[in-house]
Amino acid sequence: MYDIKTAIVGGGVVGLALAYHLSFADSDIAVFEQNPYLGDHASGRNSGVLHAGLYYETSSLKHTTCLRGNLLWREWGKNLGFDIFECGKYLVATDSSELKPLNTLLDNARKNGVQALRSLSSDEVCELRQVVNCEQAFFSGSSAILDPSFAVKALGRAIYNRDIPIMLNDEVLSVTYNGKGFVIETTHGKVFSKNFVNAAGGFAVGIRKMLGLCDVENYWVKGSYIKTVQKMFNKVLVYPVPPSDLKGLGIHSSFESDGTVRFGPNTEECLEYSYTLNPSLLDEMMDPICSVFKGVDRNKLSADYCGIRSKIKVNGKLYKDFWIGTLAVHNIPGYVEFLGIESPGFTAAPALAEVGAKFLLS
Ligand SMILES: Cc1cc2nc3c(=O)[nH]c(=O)nc-3n(C[C@H](O)[C@H](O)[C@H](O)COP(=O)(O)OP(=O)(O)OC[C@H]3O[C@@H](n4cnc5c(N)ncnc54)[C@H](O)[C@@H]3O)c2cc1C
Repeated sequence: MYDIKTAIVGGGVVGLALAYHLSFADSDIAVFEQNPYLGDHASGRNSGVLHAGLYYETSSLKHTTCLRGNLLWREWGKNLGFDIFECGKYLVATDSSELKPLNTLLDNARKNGVQALRSLSSDEVCELRQVVNCEQAFFSGSSAILDPSFAVKALGRAIYNRDIPIMLNDEVLSVTYNGKGFVIETTHGKVFSKNFVNAAGGFAVGIRKMLGLCDVENYWVKGSYIKTVQKMFNKVLVYPVPPSDLKGLGIHSSFESDGTVRFGPNTEECLEYSYTLNPSLLDEMMDPICSVFKGVDRNKLSADYCGIRSKIKVNGKLYKDFWIGTLAVHNIPGYVEFLGIESPGFTAAPALAEVGAKFLLS
């Protein structure tokens, strides 16, 4: 049986960011990923937006790790060799009923210390009206785009180059705590590890149940995207005022380096972790898309892909923040868990890694 110091389950951005961050202090680590590729789940199925931290409750983990992660990705991008497209984003109120929530959001963003915010002048609003329905808007200059699959692969390469094994096609089947550490049974054998990190995304709740921790439940919410071959505004991200429950951030536009524009994600609760697309997606998303964007040609739209937000419920109630479970939460020495890492989890990953590492290195 292999004997290691830290086993990380999950080759998504959270597990990989932690392995990369830890590798500068300690290389006795292994990452276990059940799939043949890294980032095959949420980390490769999102909007690729580096969020600025506009939406989140002040001092929550979502707020603090989003702001810090937004900064760290710029540093990591340079070190790992990928670009961040500093496009910024417009937050638009499409009619007068959205002015109050738009201004509440701007106040919250300022309270959260988000940098590079400004309200649009009336001339800028007029210009924006050529492409979107806009009563008023503000600009967030620290919102940006990266290619999430590329970033995950770059992280994987860097970890590999630091002599840390990433075990692909290697599912963690069971884990038990024996008083000294963790006996982990995987597809390829048994491993003993002093520390065990659960970064299994939408499957993390199931992994913690293996350790007898049953007080958290999954609440999966699918988000699907539609792409267009129409030439559309693709210089800046455009987001609507979000729904008040923040189940999603509202159907927004994003774009790829080749200029392709995509709309999404919508929100659909799901009981199965399945990427089957809703056959009436186009019909259902047409209204929300057209309420923001002008001149959308339905004949040029097609369903694209979807991802699943790993929300959680505690005592039957939606838990709104990220959950980082350590000794004080579950009383198992050496066990660190990341649960409910939905949006802005990609942005926050480098900062979540810093928080997790503090517990593992102390
Ligand atoms: C539709 C959508 C849009 C989003 N947009 C954004 C955005 O624009 N910006 C942003 O910052 N965030 C965004 N997010 C959130 C972001 O994608 C996630 O927070 C982030 O990817 C979570 O990473 P993760 O590593 O926790 O999970 P995952 O990427 O799901 O990784 C978990 C990994 O664990 C592996 N695993 C699970 N169980 C086992 C096991 N038993 N053994 C071995 N391996 C296992 C899985 O195969 C998987 O690869 C979005 C999410 C969704 C769904």
